[in-house]
Amino acid sequence: MDYQKIIEEIKEKVDIVDFIGEFIDLKKTGQNYRALCPFHSEKTPSFFVSPSKKIWHCFGCGKGGDVLTFLMEYENIDFYEALSILAKRTGIEFFFSLKSPSPVSKEKLYEIYKISALFYSDQLKNSQRAKKYLLSRGIDESSIGTFSIGYAPDEKDALYSYLKAQNFDDNIIKRSALVTNNYDFFRDRIIIPIHDLTGRIIGFGGRLIELKSELPKYINSPDTTIFKKGENLFGFWQAKKFIKEKGYAVIVEGYMDVILCHQHGFKNVVAPLGTSVTLEQLRKIRRVTNKILFLFDGDEAGITATERGLIPAFQLGFIVKIALLKENEDPASILQKEGSNSLRNYIAQAFSPVDLFIEKRKRKNLTERIHDCLNALSYLKDSIYQEQLLKELSEKTDISEMSLRDELKKVVYESKQNKEKFRFSEKILLNEEEFLLRIILAYPGKINYVLKFINFEDFETNHVRNIFLKIKNLYESGQYSQDRLFNLLEQNEKSFISKLIIMTEIEQNSLEQNINDCIKRLSIKTVDKKIKEAAKLGDEKSLYELIKKKKILLSKDNERE
Ligand SMILES: [Zn+2]
Repeated sequence: MDYQKIIEEIKEKVDIVDFIGEFIDLKKTGQNYRALCPFHSEKTPSFFVSPSKKIWHCFGCGKGGDVLTFLMEYENIDFYEALSILAKRTGIEFFFSLKSPSPVSKEKLYEIYKISALFYSDQLKNSQRAKKYLLSRGIDESSIGTFSIGYAPDEKDALYSYLKAQNFDDNIIKRSALVTNNYDFFRDRIIIPIHDLTGRIIGFGGRLIELKSELPKYINSPDTTIFKKGENLFGFWQAKKFIKEKGYAVIVEGYMDVILCHQHGFKNVVAPLGTSVTLEQLRKIRRVTNKILFLFDGDEAGITATERGLIPAFQLGFIVKIALLKENEDPASILQKEGSNSLRNYIAQAFSPVDLFIEKRKRKNLTERIHDCLNALSYLKDSIYQEQLLKELSEKTDISEMSLRDELKKVVYESKQNKEKFRFSEKILLNEEEFLLRIILAYPGKINYVLKFINFEDFETNHVRNIFLKIKNLYESGQYSQDRLFNLLEQNEKSFISKLIIMTEIEQNSLEQNINDCIKRLSIKTVDKKIKEAAKLGDEKSLYELIKKKKILLSKDNERE
């Protein structure tokens, strides 16, 4: 069945404003409509719907998408269920064998994930290369067992053929999202199963064995009825019992960190799935404990990730401690290089959230640091804990508690005011790669042209590169459409794109000139980076070649003008 045609017909017939307006109260503002977001709690509306672009986006929580994604999010149903509801509503004929969200179909999904995990696990036994890789990362046999680690072979349809041979029909296979158009979703990756609270496998993480510049290092299996990335934690099933025992949960960044921590006896450790930790994920932990420890890389990115995690943690009333490692190290690398005692020392030196703002952000001046800290403290629900941290902040900055308390009131007031001031007209500036992406979203006819000239190595941001790769895959198999792309995107990518589309307009004139300019500037940026590196190394020969290359790139610009 051609779902694509159905989706297009549905979008043609459904008025996005009428439709979303049935669920929430939309008010017209300029060309768009706005409302209080149904997906996070807020007092000032930051949820926007664009009737002309047929897209919605919330600037508060970042969610966004089309009518289908709205219905999926709102009703917490999967793609096919949303599709059948909208088809019925628009009178479009649509037969789908799994129309009803019956428990049977979920059972089928659990089953197919279980069988797939067994398949991957068998494949690992047969692959010396995959085993060697795990060994090189310090992962032993017991961890392979505890986490049911497997391997997806470098073949286009190994899993698909296996599932067919196990008598799964194409509908179920398709719904599992582990195979698309007869192609396996995971190829040549280490497969790490993600379990739900009862130990059922609901999704997979996949890590490339050999890094290739054009492929993301980690990918997760797509969301399904049984799996929502933003709501599940890796390792929670294995760690739950130990979190209760120890009285606190440790949050790390990645799969390998969790696995190696468990292997070295730190068994109360979990990780979010690829993004910073969400409110929903923390809510799961909150049922077991009210104490967490963030254990991250000590670089800027690690500090930022910790700051981001603090706010939802405070909202849920967690008592938080933080341990930061040396720069560019994660728990996995520390354990591998220095052993468990070293990690234990880091944990023993865990500090309070106040120190994170006051001690670790030396680049900012003291006023800014205090302000950031107070901003975080303003999210605290637990007033005793807030009082404690204010006292600590006062001791560490020599500012009286009374002044700090006054400041805190101001912070709360200001953040309210800022939200009131929120205006949709706020324009965002696009960098070259975002601009290219925006062009091909508006003019899919230009995809071929862009793909022909773009060099994937030139991308500076991973998420834009990943979106481009998905576009490329769809385009090359002759299946590109914006809706299909949407279905392939991770939630954060969807939000990024809906924001991009709502916030910006692309003019039709001199499109190719603009594309050429962007591609040129991207390659020049790459060459500049290499020039810097070569200069640092004193590599004169490369330097000479690179400068020549840059001159050629620059002159190409002039020719066209
Ligand atoms: Zn929202």
